[in-house]
Amino acid sequence: MKKKINIQLMTIAVIAIVTTLLMAVGISRDLFWKQIFEDLRTYACLLENTGLLEDGTGLEGDFFRENLRVTLIDSDGSIIFESHAQADTMENHGSRPEVREAFASGEGEAVRDSATIGKSAFYYALRLKDGRVARVSKEADSVWHVFTDAFPAILLTLSVQIAFCLILSHFLTASLLKPIRQLARGTDDPGKPDTYEELAPFMATIRQQHENILKNAGMRQEFTANVSHELKTPLTSISGYSELIENGMASSEDVVRFAREIHRNSNRLLTLINDVIRLSELDTAEQREAFETIDLYEIAETCVNMLQINAEKNEVTLELRGSSCLIQSEKQMLEELVYNLCDNAIRYNNKDGRVTVTAQPRGEEVVLMVEDTGIGIPEEHQERIFERFYRVDKSRSKSTGGTGLGLAIVKHIVAKNHARMSLESRVGEGTRITVVFERVGSRRV
Ligand code: ADP
Repeated sequence: MKKKINIQLMTIAVIAIVTTLLMAVGISRDLFWKQIFEDLRTYACLLENTGLLEDGTGLEGDFFRENLRVTLIDSDGSIIFESHAQADTMENHGSRPEVREAFASGEGEAVRDSATIGKSAFYYALRLKDGRVARVSKEADSVWHVFTDAFPAILLTLSVQIAFCLILSHFLTASLLKPIRQLARGTDDPGKPDTYEELAPFMATIRQQHENILKNAGMRQEFTANVSHELKTPLTSISGYSELIENGMASSEDVVRFAREIHRNSNRLLTLINDVIRLSELDTAEQREAFETIDLYEIAETCVNMLQINAEKNEVTLELRGSSCLIQSEKQMLEELVYNLCDNAIRYNNKDGRVTVTAQPRGEEVVLMVEDTGIGIPEEHQERIFERFYRVDKSRSKSTGGTGLGLAIVKHIVAKNHARMSLESRVGEGTRITVVFERVGSRRV
């Protein structure tokens, strides 16, 4: 960036210097020419008024030989008099531009360069009252000659200017970049007015991202700590029971009981690990390409059938209501969603309780409702039960095989499906969780 700004500043400086130089040369050339023609005209008028142009006598002195060349031209273009040459040896001058112009409009001017001697000849022609034309001319160094003469001085000035610009652009760039450097070093105070206001939105985004990264890192750390803690409990049990068996400290009756405990705790570990893996899978980028048209009612039916035995074991009635309703989703995800909700509704229910699953279309949408007549969720916990490992009653969750991750998985699935979820619950009365999906074919193009 520094290099780029430097180069751009220098480019601007060089362009400015060169154009100024060219313009100065152009303007001085114009002024120079103007001055010469002005002089020539004065001479011509003077000569006419002094009567020296009558026949040319008196124009042959040293003054004219050294400074001014005078030519007297007849109306047919032939030379009557020439101060620097024999008039009769000269060709007709009627076609010279300045002469032609003077015959036509009263006066004429011309400049002719002689590259070989680096000089320019300036001509001014004036039509006299008697119809003849008097031409005065003078030689001067051509502008280019003047320019080449002055070249070393110009080059020196240019070098000094460019060197000065280089140093100036170095300091300018440094001062331009100072606030950005400060920001990069993190020494910026957001309220400080000398940072660029144009950078404020970038800084806000970066700060926001930084905060999000910190928050995510914190959450990940907390999750890792929770997972380790959750894994530790069943593993400690397994280790303890197997050690007792190993040391021969368990009677044959105990062995069966211990083995059952080991089995139960290993299952618990497996479920936990599966849930953790599933959560991390759902955490990765959205993959909607695997989505297909699915009948939510059919999925609910499968889950209800799968959980029927479980419900009976808990002395809970599980029933399905509704009708066929199509949505865009992924089968496994949808099964997990319905299964987790129904499983909770059974596990946190009372004896002789009821669980009603409803899947049906409603206008442009499809609604899944899982209602139970269970223990309910106190209001202060309702917001948090979708967090990982958050449980209202830890011992009930564990004794019924819960991992504390079921609703976290549900929340992820709902987000992946761009669906919305709501919860209504009253302690002692029951809970109703509603998920609303977009219905297939409802999207207007
Ligand atoms: P768990 O494996 O502990 O059931 P979840 O994430 O599925 O974990 O649920 C989190 C907590 O929310 C549960 O521990 C329980 O306290 C509460 N909960 C979930 N569903 C219900 C429900 N239908 N009725 C009452 N409480 C519920």
